[in-house]
Amino acid sequence: MILVVGGAGYIGSHVVKELVETEEVVVLDNLSTGHREAVDSRAIFVKGDLGNVDDVLMVFRSYPIKAVMHFAAYSLVGESVMDPLKYYQNNVASTITLLKVMMKFKVKKFIFSSTAATYGIPDVKLIDETSATTPINPYGRSKLMVEQILGDLAASDGLKYVVLRYFNAAGAHASARIGESHDPETHLIPIVLQQLLGKREKISVFGADYDTPDGTCIRDYIHVTDLAHAHILALQALVAGKKSTEVYNLGNGHGYSVKEVIETCEKVTGVKANVEIADRRAGDPARLVASADKIFSELGWKAERNLEKIIADAWKWHRNQEY
Ligand code: UDP
Repeated sequence: MILVVGGAGYIGSHVVKELVETEEVVVLDNLSTGHREAVDSRAIFVKGDLGNVDDVLMVFRSYPIKAVMHFAAYSLVGESVMDPLKYYQNNVASTITLLKVMMKFKVKKFIFSSTAATYGIPDVKLIDETSATTPINPYGRSKLMVEQILGDLAASDGLKYVVLRYFNAAGAHASARIGESHDPETHLIPIVLQQLLGKREKISVFGADYDTPDGTCIRDYIHVTDLAHAHILALQALVAGKKSTEVYNLGNGHGYSVKEVIETCEKVTGVKANVEIADRRAGDPARLVASADKIFSELGWKAERNLEKIIADAWKWHRNQEY
């Protein structure tokens, strides 16, 4: 049985939907930002908090867990700057609680959701896993700290793990039954689609004076279903003993500017956007684009869905949003 912590959240719920096809799954989530409705009915759901050791112990006592996937974290850069202890408490301290219980029960396979924010402001065009990790905010640091803890536990206790550093997750399940639903929403694609649906008056482009071809920031958007598949491959590699301590980028090697994203949303939906140029948002690097060559050569994974598909699936979800 696979334990998915944070399986009611955006990315976790998409991974659970794939995982239940081949595995028994138990989801532990405190529903602080996740949605009960997002959890596939074939998974067992336990409402509980990673920060509460009794909740975690109860799950390990109740189910024969063989591996853990960990999605339960806060992930807003701006909020992490305002309230760093919230981030270190939840993203680091609670993860230590989980790891302690895993070690106690001798569960030694772990898939960890990390982030491009561990790289900070990269001085390379394509970021690979050997690029320097110098995060510039508490969110990125909290994720990097856990990565380092995992390395130490591999040496001390034989933990086997795969760290997946996500670039910009976006899109929704093709069924449109689950998708991205944050409150407040801060991410570009859902904000644009909400404006196109008339739920927002305008879209603010945070800075048009960056050193990029059209002056707006460039990001590497990746479909959440492609992300989910990478988790399944990583788990299979760990269970088969093919991998023991790996870090992989999850991106597609292709950057799109904020303006290009808005234009693609207009093209896919046929609706004209109302856009204003606003000030830069603190902490935004001009360009974050992954090299995903490593995971392609080692696990055969690559992003299959392009920006248009990401937006088309997100649009279906947003028009029919269920939670
Ligand atoms: N962005 C923007 N307006 C918005 C939200 C985001 O211009 O209302 C920009 C943001 O500055 C960044 C890009 O869109 O350059 C992607 O931001 P998002 O928050 O989606 O993801 P991040 O890259 O911060 O993880």
